[in-house]
Amino acid sequence: MNDPLTLTDLESWSRPGVSLAVLGHPIKHSVSPAMHNAALDALARTEPAFADWRYFRFEVHPDDLPRALELLHAKRFRGVNLTVPHKIIAFDRVAAVDQAAQPIGAVNTLLWTERGWCGHNTDGYGLAAAVHETLGRDLAGAHIILLGAGGAARGAAVECLQRRCASLWIANRTAENLAKLLATLAPIAEGIAVRGFAPAEIPADLPAGTLVINATSAGLKPADPLPINLAALPRPAAVFDMIYNPPMTPLLHAAAQLGVPHAHGLTMLVHQGAKALEIWSGISATRTAPTMAAAARAAMSVA
Ligand code: NDP
Repeated sequence: MNDPLTLTDLESWSRPGVSLAVLGHPIKHSVSPAMHNAALDALARTEPAFADWRYFRFEVHPDDLPRALELLHAKRFRGVNLTVPHKIIAFDRVAAVDQAAQPIGAVNTLLWTERGWCGHNTDGYGLAAAVHETLGRDLAGAHIILLGAGGAARGAAVECLQRRCASLWIANRTAENLAKLLATLAPIAEGIAVRGFAPAEIPADLPAGTLVINATSAGLKPADPLPINLAALPRPAAVFDMIYNPPMTPLLHAAAQLGVPHAHGLTMLVHQGAKALEIWSGISATRTAPTMAAAARAAMSVA
């Protein structure tokens, strides 16, 4: 794969077709270009209008994000995906935020409009679709233990509440970050019990049969600790880890040892990507997701 593009490439951008981009720091290992370009190639086979659509990846330092967004808008990119660490920074820098993304405080998908970028967040949709597809479970009506209080956890928590989960228990290493997230969620809980706890102090009244969702980055590196001692919880019904590389994290390994159904986050990546493409193109996410899934799996096997 070629090196990622940079701000310098953007300054002199003159490509005539419809361009899409993902910005991140780092971005080198992103699977998104492979996923989106496979879907665009497949669409172009039956709908020639997509023949000049292309998705590019840009390495952008957070300090350069405002300039990058300005240039991408001026060069009329149709849409932009944002990944670590841009999702929260961009929230305050877009012209408008889709209503569903407002309580999240983070955006991962931007749509070009005359007035400026309109921010959306497709992570929650991706999570719900992936949990359904990989584990046969729905967020609606579920007792959920969410691990983490960062950007991904915010999107997950809001999605769980908007889909009317039965209860939401959030565990996070840093108490201050947990408190901030709980305060953000309070106005939208609408009667759903939302409780926070420290991962080392498991509450005695946690229900059994929960859906455990890991939205921490613990598990990305081989030496990372378990985000929670799974064996100390009342037996969960299933475990979903948003991490997809490595596909077997210590948490998923613990789930396997306990005989609890479990899944990694690649399917979430696929569905959040398919939803982003729907926002840019109007093509239903369910139509492009299978092609994206095949491309993502292929890209992971060569990564
Ligand atoms: P953030 O940096 O915003 O948040 C990181 C979270 O992980 C915080 O809650 C942090 O806790 C916690 N954490 C970090 N290291 C540890 C550790 N060693 N032990 C316990 N907790 C830890 O990241 P994001 O929310 O953006 O992403 C989180 C994860 O979700 C990443 O692995 C990312 O790849 C994945 N993700 C996957 C997606 C998919 O489509 N599959 C989409 C989005 C994210 P603290 O507050 O204590 O610092």
